[in-house]
Amino acid sequence: MSGPAFNPFAVNPLRVNPREITERNFTRAAERLGLNAEQQLMLKTPFREVKVEVPVRMDDGSLKVFLGFRIQHSGVRGPAKGGLRYHPAVDADEVRALAEAMTWKTAVVNIPFGGAKGGIACDPTKMSRAEVERITRKFVARIHLLIGPYRDVPAPDVNTNAQVMSWVFDEYSSRHGYSPACVTGKPIELGGSLGREQATGRGVLFVLADHLKDLGKPLKAQKVVIQGFGNVGSNAALLLAEQGADIVAVSDVYGGVVSKNQKGLAVKELAAHVKQTGSVGKFPGTEPVSNEDLLTLDCDILIPAALECVLHKDNAPKVKAKIIAEAANLPTTPEADDVFAKRGVTVLPDILTNAGGVTVSYFEWAQNLQQVFWEEERVNADLQKYMSRAYRAVADLAAQKKILLKDAAYQVAVERVARAEALRGT
Ligand code: NAD
Repeated sequence: MSGPAFNPFAVNPLRVNPREITERNFTRAAERLGLNAEQQLMLKTPFREVKVEVPVRMDDGSLKVFLGFRIQHSGVRGPAKGGLRYHPAVDADEVRALAEAMTWKTAVVNIPFGGAKGGIACDPTKMSRAEVERITRKFVARIHLLIGPYRDVPAPDVNTNAQVMSWVFDEYSSRHGYSPACVTGKPIELGGSLGREQATGRGVLFVLADHLKDLGKPLKAQKVVIQGFGNVGSNAALLLAEQGADIVAVSDVYGGVVSKNQKGLAVKELAAHVKQTGSVGKFPGTEPVSNEDLLTLDCDILIPAALECVLHKDNAPKVKAKIIAEAANLPTTPEADDVFAKRGVTVLPDILTNAGGVTVSYFEWAQNLQQVFWEEERVNADLQKYMSRAYRAVADLAAQKKILLKDAAYQVAVERVARAEALRGT
């Protein structure tokens, strides 16, 4: 787990606080729904915020203490649910915003979960596998009383994966007994679900396909640019390319590559290249492009699939894509949303577009609770059902009320959570 140096804040140069994004989108929906000040306060106030110090013995014998968070925004509609992120830029506000976004996401796709997020401020690209294992186990030791199958169920996010989820599962189960449903995104051997690894990217494909169908356009030959080539970006690229879309440029933390002839990249070969070299750089038939320039390349569809706040007031006027599919969480700042609305650029909102991962996490959790295993065909078919149903509800509301898809998605979500909250009582 090592690589060249990078600036973790490079994608958010204006240092926008991601809470501005959830605050603005929530408030617009709440006002449209006519929720009073107390209802709004109840809905936006996090249920529980935990900050832990995580002491870890490093391989060189030194002791380092890392800061970790688990924030449970809501458990009104079911156990809190959300990823665990390892990144140097993790802080309380970022985790808070991401936890809240999870509440609205699980509500949009109508699965019985609330919202949570966790994170540790660390750089796993500079740590050994053993160090990542120790930091994970120590973190779980600090929070295990607050998570669990019916309390809060973590999952992978930036720089965490099925292996990290295995350690979460092991550490939790060693204290509470065999509990596969305490975490999702596990390897298949430990009760993971077939289709989970690709689920977020597959959900992006379903939402894009449904939207293009509404426009009467095929996915075939659409020119697509993707920022981020990790779990979400690479799977979205592979699945979109399989459907005939042309992935003309991609990037990762070290920079991007753009197809020399503007034709679609050979995505399978690119994924193999990344596995071998650790980055998309120097892929044959491409030339380098910076992450900033990548966002303003000529294309039909732009897919941010890295971190939040990458589309901001300075670069939004220069974006050439007509459709932005938000695969990352909170990639667009409010100012950028306003620019896109004015310019007629369609933003497919993150709480819908990247909800495929948490939807299949729900299938994984349900399988674990029943100790059954679904075939991959069933997972993918049910995912499509959930994603298409959610897209339809959002797109129809947007058309009926003449509002942005993002406003419609938040309105569907906030209304569902508000109703559940009212029924449970405060
Ligand atoms: P990942 O760690 O697998 O991949 C992240 C990718 O972003 C990598 O290619 C990395 O190199 C790149 N990246 C990181 N910092 C960057 C920077 N400064 N500039 C450019 N690229 C950078 O993470 P992931 O799971 O693919 O998550 C990506 C996004 O999708 C995040 O916003 C995450 O919250 C969101 N998301 C993930 C899931 C999931 O199931 N994993 C589900 C929903 C949403």
